[in-house]
Amino acid sequence: MKNLVLLGTIFLMMSCKTETNEFPEFKNSDLALLEQPSEAEPLNFVTSDELKESVHYLASDELQGRATGSEGIEKAAVYIENKLKSYGVAPYFKTYRDHYKVKNMDASNVVGFIEGNDPVLKNEVIILGAHYDHIGIVKVVDGDSIANGANDDASGVAVVLAMARYFSTKKNNKRSILFTLYSGEEMGLLGSKHLAQSLKDQNLDLYTMTNFEMMGVPMADKNYEAYFTGFDLSNMASKMNDYVGFNLLDELPKAKEFQLFYRSDNYPFYKIFNKPCHAISTFDFTNFDHYHKVGDEAHLMDYEFMANLTNKLIVAYEAMSNTPTQEIKMHE
Ligand SMILES: [Zn+2]
Repeated sequence: MKNLVLLGTIFLMMSCKTETNEFPEFKNSDLALLEQPSEAEPLNFVTSDELKESVHYLASDELQGRATGSEGIEKAAVYIENKLKSYGVAPYFKTYRDHYKVKNMDASNVVGFIEGNDPVLKNEVIILGAHYDHIGIVKVVDGDSIANGANDDASGVAVVLAMARYFSTKKNNKRSILFTLYSGEEMGLLGSKHLAQSLKDQNLDLYTMTNFEMMGVPMADKNYEAYFTGFDLSNMASKMNDYVGFNLLDELPKAKEFQLFYRSDNYPFYKIFNKPCHAISTFDFTNFDHYHKVGDEAHLMDYEFMANLTNKLIVAYEAMSNTPTQEIKMHE
């Protein structure tokens, strides 16, 4: 609530100033830039409870590890569709589904759309995404064979859904935003490849794409909160840091060493569109021992951390969706 009071004060100051014509017109786009987080005033657009609900359902034993083509992943897809629908996010295609085939099995991505509120900028699209599939049933360890995939990547899906709810409530984005949840990631980025190609075939005007991968556990001993893959390829991370006003995102050397940029769903978008398409993650190779194991369970996620990070990311995307020109670019 403190933010609202602060904004009210700024409005008052601006209206005083405009009487003396010292300041140019105060535009709505400036508002997004003013809503900056500070240590004293935690943002509360997104709650830990909504993230927890999504991760707990998606990573529940009922969904059997969400292998592409399974009954469990279909339940996950229905859950995601119902969430988008309940938030008032429109289906991007005739339905929320983008269907494709994997080894004769039916598979689909789930895609929701919030149109921008500017008649021109709405043609430029920001894509936010995460994969909702996982590896299903694996070798039994201590009586458990379900690789629940809470961190990988129910956490990323929960973050994308929470941002969809936020932007659908606010409708303050001039550029359009696509919320994209992929299957087939664990089988070779198949869902994101299919969707990126479909969107390219439709001549979608992509501005940036972000893939959220393993967002559930804070990094150890870092002076930033999440790392950004393909850091050197564009100015996107540094622009996002500018938008929030502190060092939110940085490069993790280990991620570069393992070439994570090429190993998740941002890569097909980068390859097909040649635009800034990156992954954001907090899995730093030391803070989580259950990657692709039966122990990747919902109760191990830090939901307060996730909510805090998501709220800061929202500030960055809100600014990104409202700048008059495209400030984010590939490096030459
Ligand atoms: Zn993953």
